[in-house]
This record gives sequence, C-alpha cells and structure tokens, in this order.
Amino acid sequence: MSLDERVGPLILELRQWGITDKAVLDAIERVPRDLFLADHFKTRAYENVALPIGHHQTVSQPLVVAMMTVALELTDRSKVLEIGTGSGYQTAVLAPLCRRVYTIERHRELLRVAEERFEALNIRNVTAMAGDGSAGWPEQAPFERIIVTAAALDVPPLLFDQLAIGGIMVIPIGVDEHDQRLTKIVKTEDGAETTDLGGVRFVPLVAGMA
Ligand code: SAH
Repeated sequence: MSLDERVGPLILELRQWGITDKAVLDAIERVPRDLFLADHFKTRAYENVALPIGHHQTVSQPLVVAMMTVALELTDRSKVLEIGTGSGYQTAVLAPLCRRVYTIERHRELLRVAEERFEALNIRNVTAMAGDGSAGWPEQAPFERIIVTAAALDVPPLLFDQLAIGGIMVIPIGVDEHDQRLTKIVKTEDGAETTDLGGVRFVPLVAGMA
C-alpha cells in the first residue's frame, strides 16, 4: 500500500475532528509515521492513537500533533524550539512548515534514533541536541515559536524568556495525568495571553538528563 492509501483515512478522521488547516494536513499526510515506530507497532501507525516509543515514552496521537501544530500558526520564517524530540514524528511534521526546528531530548538513545530518521527522510532544517529542555537553547534564542511535548507543572520560566515578543508557545500544563490542559501562550510586551485548548495526556517533563 502507498503512503497515500495508508494515511488517507487518518486525514479524513482529523478533518472530522475539526482540523481544517490545509498546510498542517498536508504535512501530516507526507510524514510516514510507521518510520517513527518499532516494528511491532508499525501496523497501527495510521490509527489516531498514541503509541509507545520505548523508555516509557509515547508518540502523541495524530489529532494532538495536528492541534498543537495548528495552534503554533507557523510560517516559513518561524524559528521553532521543540522540547521532547521523542521519536521525532512531531519534529518531522513541523519541519516543512517553518524555517528551522531546534529540538531537545533528554534521552540520548531516543535522540540518536530520531536523528537517523531525519537523515533517512532527508529533513535538512532540524538541529537536535541532547539536554534538559527546561533550560531552552539560549544560544539560538529568541524563538518565534516554542512547542513542549511533555507536561509541565507550569510554564518553564527560561522557555518563556526565550520566546520572542508576539511569539507563540504551546505546552501541556499539569502533571496529574488526568488533569492536563493544552495551553497556548502568546507573549506580549507586558505579559502573556493564554488560551485553553482542551484536556490532553502527556508524559511528564523531567528535569536533568536521562
Ligand atoms: N514529540 C514526541 C513525543 C514526545 S514524548 C514524538 O513525536 O515522538 C515526550 C518526550 O519528552 C520524551 O521523549 C521525553 O524523554 C522528553 N522529555 C521529557 N522531559 C524532558 C526535558 N526536560 N528535556 C528534554 N526532553 C524531555
């Protein structure tokens, strides 16, 4: 089966859930999610479900990837910081929609495998680093967009500092698995405007290296 045939029903499902952003749907349509999964999960790659990626981590369900990507309002000028590379799937969806993605992962092994996938897919505008993402990437700041794909108790202050004025951060807030809110933050001259995008379930943002 071609990628189109496998991913088609998923795209339809995302549309039914209210995702209408054509650029985001196109990006999801072009990324072979099975390449980001271990062999025994590949058959489920195009289901709208979160799946294990090893080290007790998960790749988000495609609907959540889509919602977060839409909320970021990317342009081809955006310099994006991503915290929690994981499998690299969300990174691969972001990459064609922005200028460059800087991505940080605390598990060296996950990062190594994700980088191999970027290489295999010929994704050239991603720069990856092993580290504690809560500290951000000061050498590359400010970022027009920041996406955090692990749940934090609150917005990590160093990440907010590294967000450009007018920039957008999307982050799940709340560490209790059953009470996390996907939150969109727009940084203004004198503070921030916050929007609640709904309930989600992410693995926690953990301090330090794995
Ligand atoms: N976006 C990923 C899924 C992320 S799961 C994907 O598409 O596959 C959350 C990831 O965040 C895990 O890989 C976890 O190791 C990582 N993580 C958790 N805390 C972190 C931190 N402080 N800094 C960097 N990465 C972190």
